[in-house]
Amino acid sequence: VITFCRDALRSIAAPCSAHAVHLSRRMDGQLSAGERVGLWVHMRGCSACRAFARQLEKLRVLARSEAASHPRPQTMPPDVRERLAAAVTHTAPDQGPLQ
Ligand SMILES: [Zn+2]
Repeated sequence: VITFCRDALRSIAAPCSAHAVHLSRRMDGQLSAGERVGLWVHMRGCSACRAFARQLEKLRVLARSEAASHPRPQTMPPDVRERLAAAVTHTAPDQGPLQ
């Protein structure tokens, strides 16, 4: 999903470069309270960043549906994951996976 976001970010409007990082970090919930306030104040006067934030929101929805259509290993049913783990653990080195 991160790669997908990065690719998509290249194709959308650029905000002030100094705030692009903050905006994407805000989307990931990684901003401190001070950074959030600073960004909020900046966005009140910067239409480019407001537009960028809107696009990030859309992107997040897209990324979520993208992730849902391509389940990651973590979302594997527990029994499948167990069998997979067992298969990996019990495989002798000389019968190991494709070499
Ligand atoms: Zn800005």
